[in-house]
Amino acid sequence: MSKGRITHHTSRITVSRPNIRSLCAYEAKEIPCKVKLDANESPYGFEEALKALNKIQTNRYPDPEAKELKKVIAKDFGVRHENILQGNGSDELIYYLITTFGGPVLYPIPTFSMYGIITQAIGEKKIEIQLDREFDLDIKEILMAIKKEKPRLIFLSSPNNPTGNCFSSERILKIIETTSSLRIVVVDEAYQPFASEKGFLSLLEDFKNLMIMRTLSKIGLAALRVGFLIGHEDVIREVNKVRLPFNVNALSQAAAITALKDKKRMRSYIKAIVSERERLFAGMGEIKGITPYPSEANFILFKVSNPDRIYKGLLKKGILVRNMKGVVDGCLRVTVGMPEENTTFLKTLRQLSESNE
Ligand SMILES: *Cc1c(COP(=O)(O)O)cnc(C)c1O
Repeated sequence: MSKGRITHHTSRITVSRPNIRSLCAYEAKEIPCKVKLDANESPYGFEEALKALNKIQTNRYPDPEAKELKKVIAKDFGVRHENILQGNGSDELIYYLITTFGGPVLYPIPTFSMYGIITQAIGEKKIEIQLDREFDLDIKEILMAIKKEKPRLIFLSSPNNPTGNCFSSERILKIIETTSSLRIVVVDEAYQPFASEKGFLSLLEDFKNLMIMRTLSKIGLAALRVGFLIGHEDVIREVNKVRLPFNVNALSQAAAITALKDKKRMRSYIKAIVSERERLFAGMGEIKGITPYPSEANFILFKVSNPDRIYKGLLKKGILVRNMKGVVDGCLRVTVGMPEENTTFLKTLRQLSESNE
């Protein structure tokens, strides 16, 4: 340190651990736009659920166990409250899982970026296995890596973000069967409400090493930050030991309870999104130079010959999608929005694709 004056280092601070120094923070830039189709949010909110907030006593801590919320979830999923662990979004639960079980952590790529970011933040080893050409699990490579590297945790996002497809259930089942009770398989069902397949909830009884992760973020409640894990009570009890006492705040608990009880509204929003997804997929398929991939989620990944030009062109018209450069090269990802937003998107995409600058 030089005497008598402050030196401004442009270089990075070197007191952080090496795994943190090489880490890139999750990019959540706010880009101004009229039509926001970049973050897999629902276009439909549950603002009436906020009416439940006027009963909250602001001077008291929230219920640390989220008892009432768990009761609603338990009923919805046909499990007991001991089988549920609440999180400040599923992101926090990923943190807790890796803290509890450690690494190596195995997951296929491309997939949800938080598995890798959190594994690295905690300082555990990442094992990334490329998906096959159909965006399905490369079961041979995965089974080999399990044998060789003995991962303690496996994350499978199905439907997968950003590809949109469900992995084949036989392959997921094979991975669950092959891994002993020492290896935990987490099936991240963030997009399951939009899928035609039924998910893995029914297998929980047969496999103690299986955990299902769900979130309210993609079904209209992203602002609340509520996610939950469902699994065997012995495993849930372990993860609960690392949970921060008041991780889900009182406002979120109350609003989530009200929204989840409004089944009719929830179902109609999901139905609308699924039907719009099919319309979008068909419409995109008719545009020359655009190849949409079939989706079981609330977004569509699509291949385009000049992704950067199309991305910028859409943004110029106020439409924000996600550029998947570096993740799935040559691809963009669009979230299903309101019908009129999807129409605007389709129209603009067609114009941009037909004009070759
Ligand atoms: C969006 C997303 C999540 C994030 O969930 P939060 O509950 O908002 O933290 C989890 N998993 C996948 C695969 C996602 O795409």
